[in-house]
Amino acid sequence: MSHDAGPDEPAETWFRQLFETAPDAMVIVDERGLIEFVNAQTEALFGYARSELLGQPVEILIPERFRPKHTGYRTEFIAAPKLRPMGSGMALSGRHKNGAEVAIEVSLSPLHTPRGIVVSAAIRDSRDRRRMEAAAKLASERLLSAVESFLDPFALFDADDRLVLCNSAYRRTLADVAGPVFGETFEALTDALLARGVFDLGAESADTFRARRLAYRRDPKGTFEVRTKDHRSLRITDRKTAEGGIVTTIWDVTDDAHREDELRQARATAEAASAAKSEFLSSMSHELRTPLNAILGFGQLLQRDRKTPLNARQKGMVDQVLKAGEHLLRLIDDVLDLSRIETGNVPMSMEPVRVTEVLLEAKTALDPMAERAGIELVVAPLPDDLPMVSADRTRFAQILMNFGSNAIKYGRQGGRAVFETKVVPGERVRIVVVDNGMGIPEDKQGKIFQPFQRAGQETGPIEGTGIGLTITKRLAEMMGGSVGFRSIAGEGSEFWVELPAMKPEQVFGNATSHLPPESSPLRDGEGPRYTVLYVEDNPSNIAFMEALIEDLERVELFTAPNAEIGIELARARKPEVILMDINLPGMSGFDALRKLREWPETRAIPVIALSAAAMDRDKKRAEQAGFFRYLTKPVRVDELTDVLETLLMSDPPAAG
Ligand code: ADP
Repeated sequence: MSHDAGPDEPAETWFRQLFETAPDAMVIVDERGLIEFVNAQTEALFGYARSELLGQPVEILIPERFRPKHTGYRTEFIAAPKLRPMGSGMALSGRHKNGAEVAIEVSLSPLHTPRGIVVSAAIRDSRDRRRMEAAAKLASERLLSAVESFLDPFALFDADDRLVLCNSAYRRTLADVAGPVFGETFEALTDALLARGVFDLGAESADTFRARRLAYRRDPKGTFEVRTKDHRSLRITDRKTAEGGIVTTIWDVTDDAHREDELRQARATAEAASAAKSEFLSSMSHELRTPLNAILGFGQLLQRDRKTPLNARQKGMVDQVLKAGEHLLRLIDDVLDLSRIETGNVPMSMEPVRVTEVLLEAKTALDPMAERAGIELVVAPLPDDLPMVSADRTRFAQILMNFGSNAIKYGRQGGRAVFETKVVPGERVRIVVVDNGMGIPEDKQGKIFQPFQRAGQETGPIEGTGIGLTITKRLAEMMGGSVGFRSIAGEGSEFWVELPAMKPEQVFGNATSHLPPESSPLRDGEGPRYTVLYVEDNPSNIAFMEALIEDLERVELFTAPNAEIGIELARARKPEVILMDINLPGMSGFDALRKLREWPETRAIPVIALSAAAMDRDKKRAEQAGFFRYLTKPVRVDELTDVLETLLMSDPPAAG
């Protein structure tokens, strides 16, 4: 004790004070059972004044019915005294001065004094304890019912990893554990479950599983997943408690696992469907392009036939055939384009692009159309220091051409279509195509960016597919841009595209200029003659090519119906250029190219691929394989002559 009694404070006084302030009622009884001392708590608990108690037999504080027995106990205790707590869990009773019984709890201790043994009794109103016990019981019942109310299994293990608490879901989930499980160690429980074959271990052995489970328990990071024999997927977490125990929670994630499986399956199905769709489109466009090739090719040749020129009426009819064919081709291209965009198959090559160049390119392409329609096509002066935009050049041009061609198509004779460019907030460049044409009725404006929606033009004379704006919008979005419009029926429309402006520091001198390639005539005149080999199995394609080349007087064509013959002919006659169909019977055009590269005499001959497969990936594949150029059928006469001219004129044939 740190508090020593001072010289003027005898030990007895000090002890009295201690007794006086004790939280319990203190009563000291001498050997004869008479009360020697009481404290203030005693007065409060029993309702007597101190003076009324001192010298009285202690039984005054006990109900009459217990008094005779009590005297016996007291004598016994004095005879064999020991520290003796009483009343723990036992309802003892005291007697209040007013006769009421008081629930008490008593601890007795003998005090050896020079006068002999006295007994000190510490008496506590046990209602407090009961109240506390009741509160503790309630709290624990609450805890238990909370634990029980978890739908998911929950268990608490103590520091020795023995089960101290669990809900019935825990018992149920891990098998019908009927026997007593409390006090069992986690390891023993796990062994019991393994012995019962509750888990579906797959290929794993019970030992490995057990080791893995216990390792997770020692160092529980993340979750532990397990399947049961009755096809449930359980996700288990062990978490250490502050007391060194472990809380184990189990979630039945069977449904989630199913959903995941279903999702995975759905994704696979969707991917397969998308691949099948691309495949279908690729082959469909191939199938459609082959006959179109014949229609457009022969149509063009008929119009150019110098030997037996068509009369005006025939020319008019062939015009119709060509127009219809071109429309069909556009439709195929548009649908193909749209579905490529929708299946995410459009490679975007983003680069800093100068708006002027693309505008002029679009204007050049649209001028003939505008002229025919009697519409003035104008590019308004661009703002000074207009930044470059970030775009895929080809697709950007496609957007401007679509807006421009619409402005012409839906314009009025003598009207105007103006390309205006400005910088708008958000560091974007906006190009607006303003026309004073027919406009779009307000009630038809809602759907024009949806595929095949023609805003009332379905039945009109103006040709269209209703896909252009859909493609335009998607393309702009893929480039990080947006489109919009404003239109008043009878007055005109404004369609705009906004693209992100490039900051000057983002532009590295790669804004290459894309000017149309120069070409030189090959048609007639003096000079060396060239031979071209065409490998093609389709007779109408051969006939078309023959007729086309016939027009080029300095070129001689010979053909081969398959790759095998083509390779032999190439080795024998060493043509300057080979035109190679890709889809050939037997060896493909790709394999043929490889073979041609193996022979020294054919290694250097440029080979141009001709194919009706117009998918981008075909094109890419062809370029990677080493074709000089990849042209899609139907062959555009001008395009083919251009390539031939470029190849033959720039690279004069070796002498001999
Ligand atoms: P298409 O022109 O092939 O029908 P688009 O998708 O390009 O398809 O355009 C959808 C519709 O929007 C057109 O059919 C037309 O009704 C309307 N439209 C587009 N541009 C204009 C314009 N500049 N003026 C009036 N109507 C337009």
